[in-house]
Order: sequence, then C-alpha cells, then structure tokens
Amino acid sequence: MPAAQESPESDGTAELYDLSNIILCEVWDENFHHGYWLSDDDESSNRVATDRLTDLLIAKSGLDAGGRVLDVGCGIGLSAFRLADATPAHVVGISNNQAQIDEANRRAAAKGLADRVGFEFADVLALPYPDDSFDVAWVFESLMHMDRVRTLKELGRVLRPGGRVVITDQLQTARASDADQAVIDDLMRTMQASTLLFADGYQAMLATTGLELVEFLDISRNTKKTPRRVIDGTNAKFDELVERFGESVIPMLEMFRDPTGLMPEIGYLLAVVRKSD
Ligand code: SAH
Repeated sequence: MPAAQESPESDGTAELYDLSNIILCEVWDENFHHGYWLSDDDESSNRVATDRLTDLLIAKSGLDAGGRVLDVGCGIGLSAFRLADATPAHVVGISNNQAQIDEANRRAAAKGLADRVGFEFADVLALPYPDDSFDVAWVFESLMHMDRVRTLKELGRVLRPGGRVVITDQLQTARASDADQAVIDDLMRTMQASTLLFADGYQAMLATTGLELVEFLDISRNTKKTPRRVIDGTNAKFDELVERFGESVIPMLEMFRDPTGLMPEIGYLLAVVRKSD
C-alpha cells in the first residue's frame, strides 16, 4: 500500500545543502545523485556511474535538435554541463541554495558554456518563468525534497504543450516490517525527504498532476551500489572531515553513513511525464 506523502519544509533543505555541498563532494561525488551500474560485477567509479545516470536522462529528454531545459534542483551543475555538451540545448538550472548557484555559474564560465547554461536562485514552487517557456524539465533526484504534486503542477505551467518532465526519485520497492519502516521513515525525515511511495502509489500521485505518464522504470538494481559507496566514502574520510570542519559536521557524516540506506526496500525510479498537446 502506498505511504501518504508528507511535504518537507524547503527552507530546511536549503540549509541542509550548504554544508553537504562540500561534504558530498568529499564522500561521494560532485554529481549529487545516484550512480548507475550495468551489473553486479560492474565496479565503475562513482563519477562514471553518476555520469551514466545523467546520460540516461539525456537519452530520455529528446533534445538532439536542441530546446530549452529547466534543471530543477541543479546541484553544482554537472548534469546541466553534461547535457549541454551532448546536445545543442539551452539549460537554466535552479536551486534554493545560493552556494550551489554561485559555484555552478563559476563553473559554467570556466567551461565557456555560460552562453547556453545559467543558474538562478529560485524556489521550485515560485518559478520566475512565464507559462509554456520550456521544452523539458529535469527533476533529477530533487523531487523527494519538494512537495511532489505542487512541484509537478508548477512544472506543468512552465512547460510548453507536449513538453516533458524527466524525474528520478527514491522508491519503496517492497513492504518492510513495521519496525524497519519506522527506521526508513526516520532516515527520510533526517534527509528532509518526503515519505517513500511504492510504484503504484507514485503513478497514482503522478496522475493527479495533470501530466501524462510516458515511462516508469524501476532502476533499483542499477543504482543499488550507491549507499554502500557513500557509507564507505564517509567512513574513509570521517576523521579527516571532523578535523577540517569541527565536531558540528558529525551529525551530517552520521547521516551519510547511516546503514538504513542499505535496506533493500529503498529503491530508485526514473519516470517521464508529458504535458498534453
Ligand atoms: N540534480 C542535482 C542535485 C540533486 S540534490 C544533481 O543531480 O546533481 C537536490 C537539489 O534540489 C539540490 O540542488 C537542492 O538545493 C535542490 N532543492 C531542494 N529543494 C528545493 C526547492 N524547494 N527549490 C529549488 N531547489 C530545491
């Protein structure tokens, strides 16, 4: 049965990402999203695997001839740069974290991409863009921090008819015992993420947004090495990071190495929805 969705506060998320921008780069990667591995034997690096997931989103976006893309919750911009390298698309990335926006714009200029890729501080629920102004929106591992339905409705507003939203999000793949579910729910709260939904509940949620479902993929088997790598990366740098940043960084490091992330009931999805013509 699908869990009910709770809406976390966006302000708290902005704060969460201030310190974790730096810590995530240290313990995981500059891509703030899961990796994609081809098989259990695939031991590709974090960067190869995270870039591979970006490439999957690029393939689902249909931007070979270009277009205007809104990258919602853009991190420090790596996926937007990769999209701009692979297609003639123009990308606007938004985040509610100013440090990310500054870093992403600095990198865009350094790469000579600033004419096609730019980043702006904005909250997803109040996008400063007119109706029908984007061909594609990406919500690349950021929707769990947002009110999913209100966000997708707002994206429906700024997309042109026929435009698509490409989403990745966490997914509940199996029922957990009551005790395990309480632990999972607790981790989601710590990560300021909404309650996990099962595939049927997720699709029911999507159906309420006015957007049409094009594709829904459970890619948990491909992304599942991610939490192990994050935990190992955190353990390897724990002492060094506490030395550098002080003891106040410990709760965040504990969150990153929380073994709850390894629970097999926590999966990952890729979905494509479109605004009708
Ligand atoms: N898509 C990026 C980053 C994912 S991390 C990547 O794949 O690397 C989640 C992102 O969502 C962060 O950039 C965070 O600042 C952003 N975010 C969370 N809540 C938001 C909100 N309400 N409005 C805009 N951005 C938000």
